[in-house]
Amino acid sequence: MAYREMDTQGWQVLDRAHYLHPFTDHASLRQGGARVAVRGEGIYVWDTEGTRIIDGLSGLGNVNIGYGRRELVEAAASQMLELSYCQSFFKTTHRSAVMLAEKLTSMLPDSLNHVFFQSSGSEANETAIRLVRHYWDLAGRPQKRMIIGRELAYHGSTHMAASLSGIPPMHSAGGDIPMPSVTHIKTAYQYRNGFGMDPAEFGVLAASWLEDKILELGPDNVAAFIAEPAQSAGGALCPPETYWPEIQRICRKYDVLLILDEVVMGFGRTGHWFGHRRYGIEPDILQLGKAITSGYLPLSATVISDRIADLLIDKGGEWAHGYTYSGHPTCCAVALENIRILDEEKLVENAGATLAPYFKAKLDSFIDHPLIGDVRSVGLMGGLEIVQDKATREAFPYEAHIGDYCAAEGLKRGLAFRANGDTMSLMPPLVTTIEQFDTIFDIAREALDATAKEFG
Ligand code: PLP
Repeated sequence: MAYREMDTQGWQVLDRAHYLHPFTDHASLRQGGARVAVRGEGIYVWDTEGTRIIDGLSGLGNVNIGYGRRELVEAAASQMLELSYCQSFFKTTHRSAVMLAEKLTSMLPDSLNHVFFQSSGSEANETAIRLVRHYWDLAGRPQKRMIIGRELAYHGSTHMAASLSGIPPMHSAGGDIPMPSVTHIKTAYQYRNGFGMDPAEFGVLAASWLEDKILELGPDNVAAFIAEPAQSAGGALCPPETYWPEIQRICRKYDVLLILDEVVMGFGRTGHWFGHRRYGIEPDILQLGKAITSGYLPLSATVISDRIADLLIDKGGEWAHGYTYSGHPTCCAVALENIRILDEEKLVENAGATLAPYFKAKLDSFIDHPLIGDVRSVGLMGGLEIVQDKATREAFPYEAHIGDYCAAEGLKRGLAFRANGDTMSLMPPLVTTIEQFDTIFDIAREALDATAKEFG
C-alpha cells in the first residue's frame, strides 16, 4: 500500500514491526500502539487522527521556540545549498561553526572561550570526560581519575554518559555500568533528602556530600564533578540558593573540575539564558545541546575554560577525539538562527519576567491536590510529585506506574506531559501564552483527578 493511503493502524503495524523506540517498553507499546505524529506548529502537535496535542514538554525539553518556524528551515536550506557538509579534521574550517563558536563564547563567562561540537548531549559528556582525563594527564596528575556524579542525574545514554547518570534502571540495563571510575552522591532533593529543614541549611548540607565523597576518595584521585544546574529527568529537582556557591567552593578547594551539564537548562529553560547565570556558577566545562537548535537539528557544544584549553593547545599535540558531524554546517547555521530568534523576540526575557512567575503560581496551587506531595519549579521547568500518603510522603508502589497512568490521562485530554518516576514534569515551550498555560493546567488537574479516582 502507498504510504500516503495508510491510516493510523497501518503506521502502527509498520512501527511495531521495525522501529525500536528509545526508552520504551516494547511489549507494552505493542498492546496499544504508538501515537503517530504528523505535524507541529507553535506549541501544538497533530497526529494521524487529527487530534491536536499541547506539547507540554517542548519535545524533550528542546523545542524552546516552538514548531514550524520557517526561518530555521530557510537557514538550513541556504546552508545546505551553499556548503552541505564540511569536515574540520584536516586544517579545514567553515564559517557557520566559527560564527557559532564565537557567538556562544560571547554569551558565556569570560573564562569560557573554546567550543567543541558534537551531535548530542550524550556525546558532549563523552567529550567532557575524555577531555578531563587528558587534561589531568597533561597537567602531570594522571592519578586524578574519579568522576563524581549525582543520584537521579541524567547525562545521556552512551556508555560513559549512562555511567555518569544516576538513574538505577540505566545501570541495570547491562554493560558494566556505571564504570568503576564513576561514583555518585545524594542530590539536592529536599523533599526526600532533607524534608522539613530550612532550605538554606539543606543546600549547605547537600553540598557537603560532595566534600565527604572527595575526602573519602582522596582529593588527589578526583578528576571532576558533573551536575545539571537543576535536574529535569530526575523529577524537576531545583537546588536551594545556598547549594551551588558551596559546590563551587568545594570544587575549587580540592582542585576538582566542575562540568556543568546545561543540555536542558541552556537557552532559556530557567528563565535566564543559561542555568549557570541563574545559579551563579562558573564551570570549567559547560555542556549545551537540545534547545541550541530548538530541536530542529541535532547539535551539542562543549565549552571549555581557558585553563583546560591552554594546556590542551600548548602541550596536547593532536587530541585523538572527534566526530564526523562535529560542527556540521547546517546544524550550526540553524543554531545561529535559533539564537537570533530567541534574542530578537526576547523569548528568554519574557519567559523569565512574565511566564515563569505565572507558571510557578499555577504549579504551586496543586499542593492542595490529594495526590500531590511536593511542587518544584525553576523558570519553565516544573514538577508535581505524586504520593500515596501526603503525611508520610509514602510513594505508590513502583508496579502501579501511577505517573504513566496520569500522563496517559493528560494525553487523552490533549496534553503531553510526562512522568519522571512519580513526578509529573512540565517543560512548555518559551512561546506558550498565558491563555495556553491556563489550558495546560486545567488539563493537568483533570488528569490528576482522574488518576486520584482510579487509585483512590
Ligand atoms: N544531559 C542532560 C541534562 C539531559 O537531560 C540529556 C537528555 O535528556 C542529555 C544530557 C543527553 O542528551 P542527548 O539525548 O542529546 O544525548
